[in-house]
Order: sequence, then C-alpha cells, then structure tokens
Amino acid sequence: MPKLPLKQADCFTKELPADSLLTNERRQVKGACFSYVTPRVPSQPSLLHASAKTAELVGLTEEDLESETFLNVFSGKELLSNSKPYAMCYGGHQFGHWAGQLGDGRAINLAEVSHAGERWALQLKGSGETPYSRSADGLAVLRSSIREHLCSEAMYHLGVPTSRSLSLMLTGDEVLRDVMYDGNPAYEKGAVVCRVAKSFLRFGSFEIHAANRDKETLRKLADYTIRHHYPTIEAGTKKGYADFFKAVCERSLTMVIHWQRVGFVHGVMNTDNMSILGDTIDYGPYGWLEGYDPNWTPNTTDSQHRRYRYGSQADMVFWNLHKLANALYILIEEEQPFVEALEWFRNQYAIQEHEMHLNKLGLTGVEPRDIELVADLKGVLQLVETDMTIFFRRLSSVKKTQTEQEAFDLIQEALYSPDELKVETIDQWKSWFAHYLLRLRKESRTDAERQANMNAVNPKYVLRNYMAQLAIEAADKGDYALIEELYQLSQKPYEEQPHMQKWFAKRPEWARVKIGCSMLSCSS
Ligand code: AMP
Ligand code: MG
Repeated sequence: MPKLPLKQADCFTKELPADSLLTNERRQVKGACFSYVTPRVPSQPSLLHASAKTAELVGLTEEDLESETFLNVFSGKELLSNSKPYAMCYGGHQFGHWAGQLGDGRAINLAEVSHAGERWALQLKGSGETPYSRSADGLAVLRSSIREHLCSEAMYHLGVPTSRSLSLMLTGDEVLRDVMYDGNPAYEKGAVVCRVAKSFLRFGSFEIHAANRDKETLRKLADYTIRHHYPTIEAGTKKGYADFFKAVCERSLTMVIHWQRVGFVHGVMNTDNMSILGDTIDYGPYGWLEGYDPNWTPNTTDSQHRRYRYGSQADMVFWNLHKLANALYILIEEEQPFVEALEWFRNQYAIQEHEMHLNKLGLTGVEPRDIELVADLKGVLQLVETDMTIFFRRLSSVKKTQTEQEAFDLIQEALYSPDELKVETIDQWKSWFAHYLLRLRKESRTDAERQANMNAVNPKYVLRNYMAQLAIEAADKGDYALIEELYQLSQKPYEEQPHMQKWFAKRPEWARVKIGCSMLSCSS
C-alpha cells in the first residue's frame, strides 16, 4: 500500500506521561495525560467527503484523498506506520457541576504531523472504545458527523478560530441511539470524522490533575502547553503560568466575540469542551440564531435552564475561565494574577463586544450615543421575530440619504411575519432607523465603502440548522450532493454567490420545531 506523504511529528506522547495500561477497559487514569488505544476496525468504510483545504494544511493533495490508504487510515482500518494512537485524559465541569474524569470517550488521536512549519494533531471521532468511554460505545452517527464536518469548515471560513475537519467516512456499521432520550432508540449509520487542530487540550485537561491533587503532572502539562502553543511565554515560572492564563483569557475572548458576531451558539460549553487554544471545538448540539433571540439555545437537553443560550456565552466563557484559574492556582498559589486576568476579560468583553457591533453596523469613530444605538437595536430586533443574518446583510444596502421608511423597507425581508406588524412596532423600528441614519451621516466613508466593510463582517451565508438537516436526510438516503454543495457554499460566506441565493433565506416554517433543526440533543 503506498504511503501518505504525512510527516509524523509526535510531541504530545513523547513529552507527557502515559497511562501504563494498554487495554481499553474503562478506568480512572492517574498521573497521566493520555492512554494508548487502538481504533476500531470498521466493517466497510467509505469516504463521503473530504476537505481539500484541510488536507493541504497537513500536506495531503487532492489525489491523496482518493487513495485507498487515505480511506483506510482515516476510517481507522489501518494505522499510519510508526504511529501509536491515544486517547486524552481530561475532566470537566458539566452544566455547572464537577463531573470528574471524562476524557476522549469516542475520540482517538492518530498522530501529530508537521507541515509548512506547523504541527497538527489528527484525531478520529467515533472510532471506538477507550478507557474513557464510561458507559457509552465510543461511536458516532452520520448525522452528528455531517454536522461537525460541515460546521468546522464553515466556521473557519467565517474567520472563527476552530478545529478543522479533514474527512467524513461511513464505517459500514450501525449504531444504536435514542435521539431525544425518550426511550425510542433506533439504529443509525455509523460514521467517523477526522478532526484536525494544533491541539485538542481543553480546560478540563488541566482541571483533572488539579482535582487529583497531582501538581507534578499539572506542571508538566502547563509547561508543555506553554512551550508548544504559547512560545513567547516563559515556561516553568509563576509569572509564566500567570501569563499563560491571561493568554488563554485573550484567546477565549476573541473566540466568543466571533461567535456573537456570526450568531453561533455552541450549545454545550462545559469546561471539557473549551479548547486551551481558544478554538471552537466539539461540535455537538450547536446551532445558529435565526430569529435574533438572546435566550435561544439549540440544545434541548439544556432547554430548562438555558445555561448555554446565545446571550450567556461570554458569561459562560468567564465561568469556565474561573474553573481553569482554580486548577492553575496550585502552580502559583497567588490569587492576584487570576483576579486581574478575569477582571480584564470582563472589561474587555464589554469593550470588544461594542466594537464588534459598531463594525456590524458599519460605524467608525466614537459618538456619545453609540452605546444607546446598539442597545436599542438589540431591543428592536426582538420586537418581532427577525432573522439576524438577513437583517445585518440587508442593512449594508441602506444609504445615508434615505428616509427611515426606505431603510426599514430594505430590511423587511428579515422579518418572519412582515404582514402582521403592529403600528407601534413599525414606529419603534422607524425611530431606531432615524437614529441610525443620523449617525451614518456623520460617517466620512461613502455608502459603497461602508457596505464593503459591513459585508466583510456580516456573513451572507451561515450553515443554518435546517440546511445541515437537509444534507443529513439526503445522506441517509445515499445522496451526498448536498454535503458538497453546503461545503462549497460555506467556503465563501461573505461573498454574494448568486447561484447559491436560495440559501440566503429565512428558516422555512417546517423547520421551526423539527428535531435536528431547532431541537438537538447530545446524542451523537
Ligand atoms: P460531549 O458532550 O460530546 O463533549 O461528551 C462528554 C463526554 O462524554 C466526553 O468525555 C466524551 O468523550 C464522552 N462521550 C460522548 N459520547 C460518547 C460515546 N458515544 N461513547 C463514548 N464516550 C462518549
Ligand atoms: Mg466534548
């Protein structure tokens, strides 16, 4: 079998302590950052889709993607030569409570590879049991794998820090799942995705050692992370650990600002799903805001408390950072640096979130009533159901010389029930536009310049919940064309793409309460 041109460059397994047991029996792993495991051999793997862009990152060509070796390696059927796959050990706070050891229960890292001066971890998701699988099977189903594959790539092209997805394979095996946890399990097609990231370390990777009072392993892991991923920081010193925490605060802040900008709701922001690099990871029951609603969450498992709703995501990042601070504290034994970094996060979030909104509105400079303008907009967007993506995209067509009625007419396409508007609602919209138009007239940029800038931050196309669901339903019947179409669409989310115009549309009515569209569970 010809070899793939991958340059193996493992450092995680070489530099960090391994679990001494080599079986995949469920167990509590102590004093180690990972356990060696072997991926499960799928019965009849087939490639459904591969991302040529992600392949390029790791040094693979489009030709490689079509090879049998690629199919075998990235379905788990065959190991890369000299590779020793492993599952990572981590813990986590889930929905506000310490959950103890979690770990890669259905993810297996194949290897790290280096290409063009960067090192990447290649990780299969859904390829069988590990010591961390607890009571579950280590497998993944087609629907959640399609969602992860498409969304990782879509997020990247939207400019959001994220893990990437190299490939989506069917395993040829069936997996039993109870989608809505209501006692109706059914067999679904099994799948494996290969995720790619600089590292899959999470906040929970650090928390587990602090919880085990294992300062030595925690220190090794922190030093390792600083050395490889925060190289401008000095490892091994108290100041270094403090700087590291601050840097994680910075990256996490950038990530969540992007989420708010594009209307992405992660859905399960537990500390085990928070990347130490500030990447979006672990795409589960995520979703995209359609009607602008800060209370919305796609995750039906969380529908009662809505802990991870759109409007709370920054608070939840903050909460998670606080848990990370508790873990790293034992390396410094001083509170002050953590308190300062967390305070910095709070203040900076307010500043950067405001700036992000000014960018979305196409405004430069500072005007005294800008804070009010943004706050009022968040209010009017909630008067009646208003599509966030369409609203901001249409807003860029407003011209300085227009009246408030003309401007309002331009965004009516974003309203879900434009024919049922009350007079008071129209008046509130018009008064917001009056303020906005006044503000626009203070801008020195031309309408066309402003539009170009707005269109670079307000995507025209996002992977709406119902779109992924359509691709899933077609794929279930063996038709994979829509996966490719949505993949192509999401490569240029800020461009007009006239042949794709049908995806610039409000969520269809059938999708409002459909499972997979607005209701999702963790059952993947
Ligand atoms: P998640 O909610 O996907 O972040 O998963 C939380 C924890 O449950 C992680 O430790 C996962 O590895 C584990 N997990 C989720 N689904 C499965 C599964 N099907 N088999 C084994 N472990 C799983
Ligand atoms: Mg997870």
